[in-house]
Amino acid sequence: MPQLRMLGGGKEVGRSCIRLDINNHHFLMDCGVDPASTGVKALPDFSGTSVDNLDAIFVSHAHLDHTGGIPELVRRGFRGKVFMTLPTLALVKLLWQDELSIMEREWPKEERLWSSKEMHQILNKLAVPTTYHEVFKLDSLSVNFHNAGHILGSTMTEVSYKDFRVVYSGDLGSSSNHLRYWRTEDIMYPDVLICEGTYGGKNRKSREEISKEFVEAARSALESGGSVLIPTFSVGKAQELLKILKDSWNKIPNVDVYLEGMALETLRIYEQFLIYMDDKVRRAYLFNNINPFRWDSLKSFRSLAERRRLHERGDPCIILSPSGMLRGGWSVWHMIRMAQKKENLIALCGHMEEGTTGHLLTTGARHFVLKDMISQEPKEIDVRCNVTHFEISSHAMHNELCNFISRMKPERLVLVHGDEQSLMALADSVRQHAGEVLIPAVGETVDLGHRNISNGKEIHVEVPISQSTSIIIPKGCSLRIRHRGKEKFMRAEDIRSLLNLRQES
Ligand SMILES: [Zn+2]
Ligand SMILES: [Zn+2]
Repeated sequence: MPQLRMLGGGKEVGRSCIRLDINNHHFLMDCGVDPASTGVKALPDFSGTSVDNLDAIFVSHAHLDHTGGIPELVRRGFRGKVFMTLPTLALVKLLWQDELSIMEREWPKEERLWSSKEMHQILNKLAVPTTYHEVFKLDSLSVNFHNAGHILGSTMTEVSYKDFRVVYSGDLGSSSNHLRYWRTEDIMYPDVLICEGTYGGKNRKSREEISKEFVEAARSALESGGSVLIPTFSVGKAQELLKILKDSWNKIPNVDVYLEGMALETLRIYEQFLIYMDDKVRRAYLFNNINPFRWDSLKSFRSLAERRRLHERGDPCIILSPSGMLRGGWSVWHMIRMAQKKENLIALCGHMEEGTTGHLLTTGARHFVLKDMISQEPKEIDVRCNVTHFEISSHAMHNELCNFISRMKPERLVLVHGDEQSLMALADSVRQHAGEVLIPAVGETVDLGHRNISNGKEIHVEVPISQSTSIIIPKGCSLRIRHRGKEKFMRAEDIRSLLNLRQES
């Protein structure tokens, strides 16, 4: 009987890692770390998992909460293949390199999770770059990656074994970002859908509205003689913000926009894969050679001295700088120099993890002791500038998650990648679209055999097959049907709605 075991990401965000056991083979869907922890605490719970028995890992996307645990597996003896899309591989290389330098710089030696040896072993030997809809076989399993629209190269993973199909959403994108949007047509009616629920129960203003507010706040700060610091994640968020700024540049004073750190290298990878962007961006690029992220005002720093001169002159400018939650890196260095001037603006974008400087700012804290990454000295600062938080996220919000699940109509729905409250809120909204909804915690195992739908007082659904004959099927029971040339499992009541017949109860 196929099984899932939650090694991480059950009732939590971070260290996503799900083991799928089918026909005596074992696979991992993602293997991430918890970005809020260090050392082994950040890893998934590998107890009960024999690492050298793992056959392969399917990577949904590059973010460290989905990939940061993979090098540790190699250290523990894993020698299988690691499947991911080509842009994911390019981004993983950057993110791992960056994480390794942070571990070497800031973590005690005994707490470091891996070295460049394990990292390169994966990148050079074990990683298999693939692309969307390029079905690959592993023993009797077929695996197919579908676009998830979250960040460049992000996938939904579809695993088929005989008649049994599991779809894992990974992190699901929002219709408002610049990437191609996900679609469900090819993957509907799975036996099991493992779906993320980060923003379960939460909706936000429309992207147009948030972008407008973001641009207006930047304009107002610049016109009053201030500068704008945008702490940003390097992968995904920085590119989205650049696109918003470029698209609205006629509404903002023409100042220099600086992009720095890993966000710059990531931008180069995004530019190589413009074909993964939405239709508008692709057409503009193919027909008019328009790069969605670059324009004349975009600059990069060449040296520390140049950064220092910029702050000494105090000319209005916009700086997009990692890290996104002001955990460290250049964004903190700039904050130390910009926070005192009341005309300046710190524009926080997206989710801020509790305990980070970014989160503290959103709760109203204004006094900080921050470490200067160059001098390594602690600096005491009072924040006098404006601070605004914009909910710009590359995750699907509640309504989009509900829409996705209602179209997928899974036999079993497993909700992951969200705190318990968010997952419960999502479950309450989508129960009618799934045979069964489960919210497993880390360490739990879920059996994926046929659901026991008999409860003694079954309710039946009548599905006519001709004018004089019907099949009587227990409600909730799935049948394998062929619809528009494709075989799939459908519940009796869904077969009735497919035939445009009114539901009986
Ligand atoms: Zn992600
Ligand atoms: Zn994630």
